[in-house]
Order: sequence, then structure tokens, then C-alpha cells
Amino acid sequence: MDKLPLQGHLSDDQLEIIPDGGILCKNGKIVEVGNFEQLRRENAKAEVEYVEGNYVGMPGLIDAHTHICWAGSRANDYAMRLAGKTYLEIAETGGGIWDTVQKTREASVEDLANLTAQRAEKMFRQGTTTIEVKSGYGLSVEHELKILEAIKRANKKTSAELIPTCLAAHILPNDFLGSQSEYLQSIVQYLLPEIKKRNLANRVDIFVEKGAFSVSEAKYYLSQAKNTGFDRIIHGDQFSKNSASLAVELQALSIDHLEYADETEIEILAKSNVFPIVLPGASIGLGERFAPARKLLDAGCSLVIASDWNPGSAPMGDLLVQAAILDAYEKLTMAETLAAITCRAALALKINDIGILKKGNKADFIAFPTTNFKEILYQQGQLKPEIIVSAKSLETNVLG
Ligand SMILES: [Zn+2]
Repeated sequence: MDKLPLQGHLSDDQLEIIPDGGILCKNGKIVEVGNFEQLRRENAKAEVEYVEGNYVGMPGLIDAHTHICWAGSRANDYAMRLAGKTYLEIAETGGGIWDTVQKTREASVEDLANLTAQRAEKMFRQGTTTIEVKSGYGLSVEHELKILEAIKRANKKTSAELIPTCLAAHILPNDFLGSQSEYLQSIVQYLLPEIKKRNLANRVDIFVEKGAFSVSEAKYYLSQAKNTGFDRIIHGDQFSKNSASLAVELQALSIDHLEYADETEIEILAKSNVFPIVLPGASIGLGERFAPARKLLDAGCSLVIASDWNPGSAPMGDLLVQAAILDAYEKLTMAETLAAITCRAALALKINDIGILKKGNKADFIAFPTTNFKEILYQQGQLKPEIIVSAKSLETNVLG
């Protein structure tokens, strides 16, 4: 994935293929990537781990948007939705996010850490070595801190690297005695400084939508978060177009969802450095349209694909399957799809030492049992990597 442009169209012949390759690593970092025999000759003292048979190696997958710290199940909601109820209708009858909030509040920090680590390990076994994880099922100062603490503990129990994000501005909690604005003010006043103090997250996210928060409320909240030193992310344009301008104005890192982004929103994003993160898992779970991934790339945007794994709208949690489904519907090249879950996803998370196999980056890579990289997306996520290496797994010496 080295030397690819950050934005816009990619063709498959831009991917550099190294036949009979090897990766030279030291202390959890890549020292060199190249021809195996040559690396061995030039580094005679290096310890060699042979990989027998035919494999395609590539960087570990990066899932830049998940909500995997939760308790309970929303199988009943899912059944209601299949029976014809809408996402907003289910939320209005007390199901939806609020149901998960109650179950998550009841869980202990240790139970939540274990649930999160189990989900992260499942993703790791599928080749995802870096996972962004949002809070947002606590919706009070006490419970949001508990969730972020659980994510921190989970990070010590998994070989994947977890990147925490505060999503206290997910919805207005049913038990808050006040308006949307007053809730956000209380989060700004009591929660954000505490998160900084305890070093629990550097990122805040807000859900901009009818039934969640308005554009002006988000503007206030994200401006305050910026002043407190947080990176900003927006859940936007999921059911109606609303927040591309806001994302650009407030220099958000990314705007995530974008199912309802139209030509004007795409143009606004294309002129900015804001990463569009599209979430096919939510479209599949809700039976909704996919985000206009092809148009975003054609307009010159970077494109990131993430799983949005959450108990309500995206219960699958398989990034590669979802990326493969999206590329078929949106006509994304294999290079565009693979970049969207490796190098471009890394940059959307502001991480610059993963997502590419190159000198200086972390030893973070996977290998699929095949001779042709095109098999990976052709098999639509059913070809699984057999070798998964992260800096953390190297510490515990789990190779292969
Ligand atoms: Zn989400």
C-alpha cells in the first residue's frame, strides 16, 4: 500500500506487488520490506520465520468506526425492524439506543472490558489489528467514564490496538432533566475535562440527526471540544443531509455515515481535508441505501470504509465482508477498497505508522493463503488471513 495517493481514484496496478517477499522487523517495527532472499543475505544474523506455502501479505486491517463496548442484545429490535418498524419509530417507543444504554449502565466495568475485548479479539482473528471504539451507551458523566475506562482495560486484554472516542453526544438520555443544549453543556462542563484529566480519549464524536442533535447544537459542542483539545468526529448525513459544512468549518477529522450526502455535500468535502468514512454495515443492517462511495472518490475525496459494529444497526462486525459488498455495489476498485481499510483509514485516525508495509512503520501485518491478492475481495470476506501480526502480538510472540 506504499506510495499511493491519499485522495481520489486508485487503480489496481498502482498496488506494488513484491514476489517472494520478506519483512525484516526489529523491536516491533518494520526495518525493511523486499525480496526474501536478498533480505536474508544482507541480514545473516536475523532470526527467520519461514512462511511455507503461498500467501499474500498486506498491512493489518483498520476499522476506523465501531461501537463495540456494550452489554445486552438488540435482536428484538432487529426483528421489529424486519417486521416493518423504522429506526426512528423503534427509538421513539423506548427501544433502540436507550435499551442498550440501560443494559450497559447495569454492567460492571470489568464485564464491559471483557465483552469489548472478546469482540476485539474476534475482529483481530479476522485480520483487523486496529479498532476505533466509541463510548456512547453511558450518556451520563459517571457511565461514560466507566465505558471509556472499560475500553482502556479491554485494550490490555486484546492483541488489537483500541483507539477510544467519547460519544457522550449520541442521543439525549431519557432520564436527563433538561434540553439537548443543557445536556451538551453538562458534558462540556463535567465530562470532557475529566476525560482529559484521566487520559481516557483524545477524540469526541456527535450524532447529528433528527432525534439526536441539531447542527447548531453540534457546532457549540464541537467548538467547546476543540477548545479542550479534542479531535472532532461527526456522525452525519445518515438519514438526511446535514453536516458536511459543519465538519469542514470545524476541521473535523472525519464525517461518518454519509448515506444521504448529495452532490453539494460531496463537493464541500472534496475541497477539504475531512475524511469521509462510509459504513456499509449500517446500510445492510437497516436495509438503507449505501453511502455514495464512488462519487466521493470521483470528486477527489479520500475514502475510508468501517464496520460501525454496534448492537442496533450494524450487528455483523465483519469489516472485510462489508467492504467487499460495498465495492460490488459502488464499483470501487480493489485498490480503493483495500486502501479504505488500511492506509487511508490510518490517516483518518491520525495514525501514521500503520496501514502501509514500509520501513519505520509498526510490525502490523496479515497474510492470506492465496497466490493472488484479488482473491481477498473476490471471495467477499470469506478468505480469512492465517497469519496476523501486531506489535502487541509480537510482544507475546504469537506468530502464525
Ligand atoms: Zn456509528
